[in-house]
Order: sequence, then C-alpha cells, then structure tokens
Amino acid sequence: SSEDEQTEDYLFKVVLIGDSAVGKSNLLSRFARNEFYPSSKSTIGVEFQTQKMEINGKEIKAQIWDTAGQERFKAITSAYYRGAVGALVVYDITRQQTFENVSKWLDELHTHSDMNVVTILVGNKSDLKDAREVSTADGKALAEAQGMFFIETSALDSSNVVEAFQTVVREIYNILS
Ligand code: GDP
Ligand code: MG
Repeated sequence: SSEDEQTEDYLFKVVLIGDSAVGKSNLLSRFARNEFYPSSKSTIGVEFQTQKMEINGKEIKAQIWDTAGQERFKAITSAYYRGAVGALVVYDITRQQTFENVSKWLDELHTHSDMNVVTILVGNKSDLKDAREVSTADGKALAEAQGMFFIETSALDSSNVVEAFQTVVREIYNILS
C-alpha cells in the first residue's frame, strides 16, 4: 500500500577511502554540516555521519563512514568496509602519488566488500588550480577503466561535493529499487 511505501526506510552504508590528507573528512563535514576545517585534525574524524537525502521523491539515509586517520597506519579494519554498498575513492589532484595509490584502495575495497559496491572516483582540491598534478583526463580515464563514476570536487569552495555523494546514493537506489 502507499502507507507502507511512505514508511519504507532506505539506509545505505557508504565509505570514504583514499590516502591521508586528500580531504575525506572535509568532504564529509562540507556535505553533512557545511563546514570546512583549514587545518587537518584527526579529532574531527567521526565514525560515521547519517545524512538524509531525497532521491526520486524518496527519503534515503546515507550512513557515511569516515576513517579517524587509520589510513596513515594502513590499519583500516574489515569492519569499516562491512556492509558498504557505496564508496568514494578520494585522491588529491595536487599530489600525483595519491592518484597512483587509488588502485591499492580499490584492491582493499574489493577484498573487504561486495564486488558490486557502487564506486565514484573523486579528485578533490579542484580549487588549487595552479598546483594541479593530475589532469581531469587522467582521472576520467582511470574511472572509466575501473567502472567507476568520476567527479572533481573542492571541499573548500563546495564545488561538486553534494553531487559526489548524490551520484553514489542515486545509483545505489536505482540498483536496489
Ligand atoms: P583526510 O585525511 O583525507 O581526512 O583529509 P582532511 O579532510 O583532514 O584534509 C587534509 C587537509 O587538506 C586539511 O588541511 C584540509 O583543510 C585540506 N583540504 C581538504 N579539502 C580541501 C579542498 O578541497 N581544497 C583545499 N585547498 N584544501 C582542502
Ligand atoms: Mg580524515
């Protein structure tokens, strides 16, 4: 019935992964609270943040997991990935090495979660135009080769942040509904 539909609950677990200092925590704080932290503080790392979103007129809750800086110690546990249906794989467009490491993060993701996890490759810090080391074309090409969505974002100036999360959640919804 339509009553059942109204109370139907969607809760999707989405994980943020990628090298240290690429801007994962700030993407989440920008998205969930419209806040940006100019200096990196591991203390801003929360376990997860639940964010309500509307997709096709349905209320969806995205439970977005952020590392509390464990990626520095290569100590992200399998519990972090467990049950994830979406992932944002983030690199920093001003640091080539963080882009090279994307394949490692994908390996880890696929070791710990379902192969069908919806993935978007996120080139963050697009505001730092003069310091760019990774071209948009290279980002797009990698995403295409690995079957990921692709977007460039700035947690600092907010560009494409909502779109990055929405793209993943909308695709999950489309697959599951
Ligand atoms: P995490 O380790 O991946 O969670 O990265 P953080 O969110 O802690 O960010 C690391 C540093 O990069 C901090 O100093 C942030 O202020 C900065 N930062 C994050 N996102 C952006 C961005 O889009 N543009 C710029 N210019 N700096 C950013
Ligand atoms: Mg962080």
